[in-house]
Amino acid sequence: MDGLGLTGSEIAGFVVGALLLGATVTAPRVDGFIASSQRRSLRMCKRCGDLRIVACPKCKGVGSVRKGGVLNMGMLDDLYESFGAEAKTDNLVPCMNCRSKGRLLCPECSKRP
Ligand SMILES: [Zn+2]
Ligand SMILES: [Zn+2]
Repeated sequence: MDGLGLTGSEIAGFVVGALLLGATVTAPRVDGFIASSQRRSLRMCKRCGDLRIVACPKCKGVGSVRKGGVLNMGMLDDLYESFGAEAKTDNLVPCMNCRSKGRLLCPECSKRP
């Protein structure tokens, strides 16, 4: 096996270089491209992969959102604390976007019959 004209170190250097290049430059884009084209070729939903549910964009799938994320509710927090309400919930309130389920029906799939 000496017909390739490449030494081991040359091959190693090439591999490392390719890996670095792939990792730093092309990997995310290629990965995303492959994923979406694969899904399309499989006729899978681009958005949810045919799970028919997607993570709630508002609460990131957690099912609860921070109180005061939109409005500053600091005064209300103080009020709650003065009433002795449970203030140890880390200011989390149920997400109204997904009704605290953390996921929603896929909007793409719900369009399909
Ligand atoms: Zn939500
Ligand atoms: Zn879908």
